[in-house]
Formats: sequence, structure tokens, C-alpha cells
Amino acid sequence: MDGLPTPLRCFREHHAAEKFADDGAETVTSVEQKKVECSIEEVTSVYKQIHNIPQPTLLREQHYQYLKKGLRHLSDAYECLDASRPWLCFWILHSLELLEEPIPSTIASDVCQFLARCQTSSGGFAGGPGQHAHLAPTYATVNALCIIGTEEAYSIINREKLLDFLWSVKQPDGSFVMHVGGEVDVRSAYCAASVASLTNILTPKLFEDTTSWILRCQNWEGGLSGVPGLEAHGGYTFCGMAAMVILGKEHMLDLKALLRWVVSRQMRFEGGFQGRCNKLVDGCYSFWQAGLLPLLHRALFKDGESTLSRQQWMFEQQALQEYILLCCQNPTGGLLDKPGKSRDFYHTCYCLSGLSVAQHFGSLDGPHELILGREENRLAVTHPVYNICPEKVAQALEHFLRLPVPEDNRQRGASEQS
Ligand SMILES: [Zn+2]
Repeated sequence: MDGLPTPLRCFREHHAAEKFADDGAETVTSVEQKKVECSIEEVTSVYKQIHNIPQPTLLREQHYQYLKKGLRHLSDAYECLDASRPWLCFWILHSLELLEEPIPSTIASDVCQFLARCQTSSGGFAGGPGQHAHLAPTYATVNALCIIGTEEAYSIINREKLLDFLWSVKQPDGSFVMHVGGEVDVRSAYCAASVASLTNILTPKLFEDTTSWILRCQNWEGGLSGVPGLEAHGGYTFCGMAAMVILGKEHMLDLKALLRWVVSRQMRFEGGFQGRCNKLVDGCYSFWQAGLLPLLHRALFKDGESTLSRQQWMFEQQALQEYILLCCQNPTGGLLDKPGKSRDFYHTCYCLSGLSVAQHFGSLDGPHELILGREENRLAVTHPVYNICPEKVAQALEHFLRLPVPEDNRQRGASEQS
């Protein structure tokens, strides 16, 4: 694996031998898989014909224009995301920071004021003004505010009340519900651990039994499911693993089984990742799956694993970059799931985040880059736990660690009883 030329200038050859073999048993799934492989072959050959030099290019300017417009104007298609508005702020701001495009101070301040209106009296943030507090937009809001990283942004978060909110969604078995009266799944443990650690309100009591609950989500496949007993899934696996890292208990997972599961989710022909076994490739798993590899690399290193590479993560970084650059870019800006799908801010954020993971290897020996195509394809580094730039994580921690951890004499369901 070591010793690949950097930067990488050419495409891999797409070998027909890597295509899906249905062994003569055609199913709905196998037909869909073959269609996707055909579309990828088509997109790749068209690209090679149009461009004399077969160099995949990140359409920086187009993505920048698409993102900039999205901060002020959304099309009707986003109406269904009315309960996810802080997510749109996070997806766009994080994409911009990966592209190293500065956010004008007036826009940053407007975003802060909008997110302040999403904070509810319960201490959590809602998907929009006047809605109920929910852990997912709370995570997106805290991340967005940390990316902005100004005093104005930090001061919006009422930490005492946020801790109240986290207690209100904590369950007796260690898990969290997404909102009061809502569903339990492993996303909530990650969202809670992420916001609590970034804002320095993480108390051992708040996360009592949480790690043992997360461990129960790792199944026989090696990945994690949303709740114990279900199918392993990329998004849930990332959330469970990242939460375990924040809580300092990642070594309790079966790391080797997790590694085997996640590397098997990288598609042999497409180069991108699928979310679950026997599913189609999807650009957003470029982060949810590939983002697990830095976490696993570090966890295995801490565990004393001595055979780890000092230059590369344990997945095909070049193949993933090719998939994103060739198959997931809309020519007018924005990124997408797979050829034929439309662009959106969610896929833009997670395709770019995955591209960043595939470009940058970080170790104690220092960073090691593996940039496919032109130098201008290089994105900023992303923090593998929080998925915001590492400087912004450090800056937020520096700010919030100066403030005392709120006294935590609360009990489960305390805010419901009061
Ligand atoms: Zn997707």
C-alpha cells in the first residue's frame, strides 16, 4: 500500500473483473447494481473524452457559488427540510471551510442570529424558530457556531440550559432519545457527546451507561446498528464509534471486526462506499464510512497495533477521490449521491468531507497528503470526530474550557418532573 506517487495524476483503470457478478441469479438488487456500474463507466469515459489530460478536477468556483447562494436563498425543493434549518447552516458553512472560502462577517452574524432563534426554553436547539428542541439540530447548531467561531457565536449557547436539555433526553439504560417523547438511536448518543464535549459540559454522570448501550449496537457484521439487534449501517456506525472516541472507550468495541466491515463497504468497481451490505454506492458515505478509518487507525494505534501504515488510511483513498470527483459533481456546482441524482447541500457537505479524509493522512509523524489531480483539488483537513476543521475544534475547546463545567446534580428525567 505504501509508496504510491503523490500527487496522483492519472485515473485507475476500471477493471471489468471488479464488476458485480450475479452468478446467474438476477434479482432486483443485482439489476440496480449493474445499472449503477454502467452509469459510472459512461461518466468516466465521457470525462476522459472531454478533457485531453485525464485529470479529475474539483469544480471549486461552481461549488462556492452554489454554497454562497444557499446561505441566502433556498429553492422550493428545500421546503421539506423546514425542520432541519440548522443542518443547512452546518452543511454549507462546513463545505465553505473545506474549500477555504472565508465567511463574510455580516453573513456569519446573520447565521448566529438565526440560530439563536432556534434555541428553545428547554436549552436545546430546534429545526427552526418555534419548533421543538431536538438533538440533531442541536448538534448541527453547535457545529455551525464553532465553525463561525466568534464571541457572538459562542455566547449564543446557554450551557446550563443545554445540560438540562441533554438530561431531559437521557434514558435509564444509558441511551438518549432524539427529543422528549421521541425515538432512541445511536445518533443521539453522538450528538449529545459531541455538543457536551465541545462546550465543556460533559459530566461522567450524564453519560453513565451510555458506552455499554453503544456496545450493544455492534452486531455480528462488525458495524453498528441504530439500536441493538438491527442491521449495521454506515451513519450509525460512525455515530457510535465517534461517541465512543469522545467518551474514551473506543477500545471496548471489536475494532478488528469493525475494520473488516467498513473496508468491505468500499465498492470494488465504483470506488465509493455503500451504507450497508448489498446496497448501492452513495457519495455521502464517503464521510460516514471513510471517516471511520481515521478513528479506527488511531484506536488501533492506541491499542498497540504495530503493523499500521504511517502514510495511508486502510482504504483505497485514490479510488474514493475518483468516485467523488468524476461521479458526484454537478457541473454547475454542488455534489450528489451518484450519477443521475440531483445535487443538494447534504451530499455537498459529506462528499467534500469524505474527499478531505481521502486526501489527508494525519499521524504522530506528521501529515501525509495524497491529492488526486491538480494541486487546487486540495481541501482543508477535517476533524474526524466532529467533522469541522481541527483549528475550529481547538478554538472552541480553548474558549469553553475557560468556563466552569456547570454543576451536575441533575437526575434522569429531571426536567420532565419539574
Ligand atoms: Zn446519500
